[in-house]
Amino acid sequence: QVTSFAEDRYERMQYRRSGRSGLRLPAISLGAWETFGGYRGEEVARACLYRAFDLGITHFDLANNYGRPAGNAEKVVGKILRDMPRDELIISTKAGYYMWPGPYGDGLSKKYLVASLDQSLKRLGLEYVDIFYAHRPDPETPLEETMAALDLIVKQGKALYIGVSNFTGAQFEEAVAITKQMGLAPITIHQPYYNMLGRGPEHNLFDHTLRAGSGVITFSPLAQGLLSTKYLGDNIPSDSRAAEWWDKQHAERMLTPEKLEQIRGLNKIAQERGQSLAQMALAWNLRHKAVTSVLIGASKVEQIEENVAALKNLEFSEDELKAIDKISPV
Ligand code: NDP
Repeated sequence: QVTSFAEDRYERMQYRRSGRSGLRLPAISLGAWETFGGYRGEEVARACLYRAFDLGITHFDLANNYGRPAGNAEKVVGKILRDMPRDELIISTKAGYYMWPGPYGDGLSKKYLVASLDQSLKRLGLEYVDIFYAHRPDPETPLEETMAALDLIVKQGKALYIGVSNFTGAQFEEAVAITKQMGLAPITIHQPYYNMLGRGPEHNLFDHTLRAGSGVITFSPLAQGLLSTKYLGDNIPSDSRAAEWWDKQHAERMLTPEKLEQIRGLNKIAQERGQSLAQMALAWNLRHKAVTSVLIGASKVEQIEENVAALKNLEFSEDELKAIDKISPV
């Protein structure tokens, strides 16, 4: 039985075309990595997915290896999706990182991609996903094989669109050329890491995706929660990712004094704009013409509400952009 959702949900969100494709995505999308089926269970996941959909977030992102144990995120989210209207949702998953032992459980071979997606569909309880990604580059597999495998998956109806993630501009360019030469399904979307503390794609990716007409959905737009005020106090909050998911060494690597200083500076600019830092970070990602959607994570419903409210102010003055560049140079 499908749950009922807010009738005005599509008025609450902006939808943006993924490159030159027919697919429109919500400006804000929601991912499950580490949170759902990881340090948050089914109850929180359900509350977050329902609230997100009520606010017009139609796109949920997964991967074969998300959750603990790997695959648990797809199981948890899949169970919730059974109560949601499938045709109003864009569900993505990926393969490319280690999933099972032996030569066929990692990388981008045809064998791994096809087998992994079949497993994902079972865990999700779906007949198809909307987007299937090559999760990361695999220099040992010919890109022709990978792109042909993605095309096969589309022809079989197991995915509607294909994407690549974590590819450099050069790798992306090569993949695009192969799809053209071989007449394969086009790359509808690229999923790179991009945020105010990590601006690499401005150097080496966005020109390529714009030229190719592919969309971009940026992951970790809040730098895993660093682009908020939660780590600016004396103690790491006990309900944060740093406390719940990272070991001490990883937390120390992530939360360096230099980074916290940058975050403090950015927070001042956000306050002057009348936005929270998280809101400004999302608006800042969306300012770039290459970016279709920002792919957030959330450990509570309130974060989704706060983040969607970022859409109230997406404009930046030249002075604001310069002040941000000074703290976080391109
Ligand atoms: P974010 O940068 O959005 O970080 C999410 C975390 O930030 C939340 O779990 C929460 O942390 C905190 N947060 C969110 N909103 C707020 C707020 N308003 N105020 C304060 N804190 C907030 O993204 P993720 O790193 O989680 O990645 C998002 C998605 O991107 C993943 O779920 C996955 O789908 C995708 N991804 C893809 C990768 C790839 O290789 N393709 C790699 C990584 C992610 P807390 O838990 O501390 O409350």
